[in-house]
Amino acid sequence: MIGKKVAKFGGSSLADGQQFKKVYEIIKGDTDTTVIVPSAPGKRNGRDHKVTDLLYMCYQLSSHGLNFHEIFKIIEDRFTNICDELMLKIPIGEILKKVKDDISNGASRDYCASRGEYINGLILAEYLGYPFIDAKEIIRFKDNGEYDKEATEYLIYERLRSMDNAVVPGFYGGKSNGEIVTFSRGGSDVTGAIIAHAIQASLYENWTDVSGFLMADPKVVKDTVGIKLITYKELRELSYMGAPVLHEEAIFPVRERGIPIRIKNTNRPDDEGTLIVHDQWEEKNKGTITGIAGRKDFSVISVEKTLMTSEKGFFRKLISVFETNDIGIEHMPSSIDSISVIVSDRDLNGKLSKITEEIKIYCNPDNVVSYRGMALIAVVGRGMINTKGISAKVFTSLSNEGINIRMISQGSSELNIIIGVENKDFEKAISAIYYAFN
Ligand code: ASP
Repeated sequence: MIGKKVAKFGGSSLADGQQFKKVYEIIKGDTDTTVIVPSAPGKRNGRDHKVTDLLYMCYQLSSHGLNFHEIFKIIEDRFTNICDELMLKIPIGEILKKVKDDISNGASRDYCASRGEYINGLILAEYLGYPFIDAKEIIRFKDNGEYDKEATEYLIYERLRSMDNAVVPGFYGGKSNGEIVTFSRGGSDVTGAIIAHAIQASLYENWTDVSGFLMADPKVVKDTVGIKLITYKELRELSYMGAPVLHEEAIFPVRERGIPIRIKNTNRPDDEGTLIVHDQWEEKNKGTITGIAGRKDFSVISVEKTLMTSEKGFFRKLISVFETNDIGIEHMPSSIDSISVIVSDRDLNGKLSKITEEIKIYCNPDNVVSYRGMALIAVVGRGMINTKGISAKVFTSLSNEGINIRMISQGSSELNIIIGVENKDFEKAISAIYYAFN
């Protein structure tokens, strides 16, 4: 299966028997797909629960000596219904009983959480007629709980290379003593990426319930169009600014090998989705932007001091005030005699007067002023590189709407422009920029 495709199906794609049927059609319709990575069943509707959440709850109740059977019953019903609907013969009752006994007998939190993927993997393997490989045998964690990249790559390669197909549950792996360890929430994305890397896949398909990424948040821009192609770097810029995307760590393993990721919609398999490609992608998307994302609630601490740039150690001192107060710096736009430090309100959280005082003591500035309630918007696009006129278009669109720009920052890679506006202008600004390009 070296060089073939890996497909990961998210929780909503495998939430019930109907969804399993769609997944079956997708997999059987593409002979190139070899490894299938399922999540645990997700929500079937807005009022439903994810099986993983139910499992965490069972663990919590049981570890406090409380009765978890009522919650476990919901899990049992979900899996049993799927097996009934698909008319599968796997001994689902026995499988569930073993998990229930393990939880009663004090199984670890990670073990409990991982059983959603484990059981869903068994069911999917049976349904497809593919071999099931327990992730604990090939996704390796060290004794200290850290993910073990080298060992995992070796184990996956050895185990999978001569197989035609396999189902490997997402979200967890194991230590060499068999103890289960999970990734952080949403971690099935990571499992898929790790396997794609190890088998040098030609493509990593990530099946979910949307047809890829949108150019802007649909809550802000109603008729926003989808992004057909985006580079890993652009995606990082957008996700950092709050666009809902893949699990962050899922990008790294595939990026390292330049393996493209395609985001697809299980409910609309013919939609093109979004293709995420390596950063040196030739097709440049000239003259336009790829996406807009942003977040509200930042604070600006502006420090003025004549000749600050020629004073040795000034910036170091300023930064160390934030560092010693455990506050991350988002941006630092500067002019000749002033610099603004932009931090999230969440990080600043009640420390503003302390910070201001410390800057005064340590940096001896002429003036320190601060204001809250700023929103940051990232306009991202490889099409901006070496292209004139894009920033003019962005700023004209804002000025036409009467929006005051409080900050501008452009990275040296010219991949993005970050704009600070007042919180109240956030939605209006995103719409204005979007319609300037669409
Ligand atoms: N089932 C896990 C979660 O809900 C992992 C995943 O779905 O990717 O976080």
